[in-house]
Amino acid sequence: MPYAYDDQNIFAKILRGEIPSTPVFESEHTLAFPDITPQKKAHILVIPKGPYRCFDHFVLAASPAEQLDFFASVAKVAEQIGVAESAGGQGFRLITNSGEHSHQEVPHFHVHLLGGEPCGPLTCK
Ligand code: 5GP
Repeated sequence: MPYAYDDQNIFAKILRGEIPSTPVFESEHTLAFPDITPQKKAHILVIPKGPYRCFDHFVLAASPAEQLDFFASVAKVAEQIGVAESAGGQGFRLITNSGEHSHQEVPHFHVHLLGGEPCGPLTCK
């Protein structure tokens, strides 16, 4: 079955409180916390609380309320950590990996919010 969800992934454990995290933002359907291996001065992971494996799974299966909450939360975090132009910041990059070719490591949908310094070219070969 496509998009089978493994509830033993690290982010599922964080959501259940089995692995510690330091949330910077939480809403009804969304949680955000710093990446354990930051790639930029600001590197926040934003995840839905529901069991979705990747972006396409989330868009196909999550309710409109969950989707609206998630994308609004990403924008709120960008403002809260000061990288959004509305907060006087100089912008940010969103990355989401989906599946094997993307090199997705944690099979729970997440957006990397990167900023606080120039992000450089989009991809490498
Ligand atoms: P992916 O490659 O799946 O797009 O990104 C997974 C991200 O999760 C990586 O950037 C990695 O550093 C981060 N990560 C893995 N394990 C943990 C953890 O236990 N806590 C936190 N905060 N981040 C983690």
